[in-house]
Amino acid sequence: MEQSREDTEEQRYTISILVPCYNEESALNLFYERTAAVIDSLQEYDFEILFVNDGSQDNTLSIMQELHQRDKRVSYLNLSRNFGKEIAMIAGIDYLRGDAAIIMDADLQDPPELIPKMIYWWQQGYDDVSAKRSSRAGETFFKKWTSHTFYRILQHLTDIPIQPDVGDFRLLDRQCLDAVRRMRESQRYNKGIFSWIGFRKKEILFARQPRVSGRSKWNYWKLLNLAIEGIMSFSIAPLRMASFMGCLLALLSILYMAYIVIRTLMYGGDVPGYPSLISIILFIGGVQLLFLGIIGEYLGRVFNESKFRPLYFVKDYNGHFVNNQKGRRS
Ligand code: UDP
Ligand code: MG
Repeated sequence: MEQSREDTEEQRYTISILVPCYNEESALNLFYERTAAVIDSLQEYDFEILFVNDGSQDNTLSIMQELHQRDKRVSYLNLSRNFGKEIAMIAGIDYLRGDAAIIMDADLQDPPELIPKMIYWWQQGYDDVSAKRSSRAGETFFKKWTSHTFYRILQHLTDIPIQPDVGDFRLLDRQCLDAVRRMRESQRYNKGIFSWIGFRKKEILFARQPRVSGRSKWNYWKLLNLAIEGIMSFSIAPLRMASFMGCLLALLSILYMAYIVIRTLMYGGDVPGYPSLISIILFIGGVQLLFLGIIGEYLGRVFNESKFRPLYFVKDYNGHFVNNQKGRRS
C-alpha cells in the first residue's frame, strides 16, 4: 500500500474526535462550539465527535446527551464509573469509527484550530501527528520543571524514544488505533504506548492554553504516580539498578571482611566498633527495603495484570445498552 492518502479522490474519510471528560460541565459547550466551527469548515471530511463520560459527578452527561440530540455527529460513551483518563481514552478508541482519530482534552487547552493542520500532515502520509507544546501558559514554573526532569529520567531508563512536551493531543491513523487497541494492559501509560507502537510520526508545534474553566484534575500526588507508572511499565531499569547495587555492596562487604579478618589475626580481636557496625546494619537494611519495594512494584503489576479483568465497563453508548464485550482483554 502506498503511503499518501491523497490520490484516492473518491473516498471520503471519517475523522473521529475523541474527548475524555471528567466533570467538565463548564467547558463542554464551549468546547463543542469551537470545535464545531473548525470542523464545519472542513467540508471534505466526515466527522464524529465522541465524548467519553468518565464517571462525572456533575452535569457532564446531560450536556453530552443534549449535544447528541442537537448534532448527529456527536456520540457519547458513558462509563460505569471514573476509570481515569488513560482508560477513558482506550474505551473511546474501542468505540470510535473514524479512519483516523484526534484525541483532545475537553478544557480547550488543546486548541481545535490545530485540527486542519493535523489532518494536512495525515494526508501527507504520517500516521501519528502529535502536537508539541512550545509554551505552557498558565502552568507554574515548578510543574514545568518537574515534567522536564521526569522526561529526561524516563528517556535514560527506556529504550523507546519518549517524545518530550508531547501530550495526548494527537491524530492517530486507523493503523495506530488498531495497534493501540491490541495493547490491553490495565495499568496504562498511553504516552509510552504511542511511542512504542512506532509508525511514521510527525510533531507540530503549538502554544498550550490555560484551561477555559473548571479545575485541573491532576495534583502532584497523581502526577507522581503517573510518573512511576511511566517508568515501571516501560523499563526494568530499577530492577537492574538493584542487581548492580547488590553486586557493589557484596564486593565492598568482601573487602571489608578481608580487612577485619586480617586485622584480627595481626592485632587480636577488639570489642569497640559499635558505631561502624550499627551504621552498616542500618545502611544495608535501608537498601534492602528500598529494593524490596521496587521488586514489590513490579510484582504488584504482575498481580494486577494476571487478574485479566476487563479494562472498563460501559453503561451506555448514545443511550443504548451495550454488552461490554469491547472492554475485555484479548
Ligand atoms: N479526564 C478524564 N478522567 C479523569 C481525569 C481527567 O477523562 O479521571 C479528562 C479531563 O476531563 C480532560 C482531560 O482528561 O478532558 C485532561 O484533564 P485535565 O485538564 O484535568 O489535565 P491537565 O490538562 O491538567 O493535564
Ligand atoms: Mg487540562
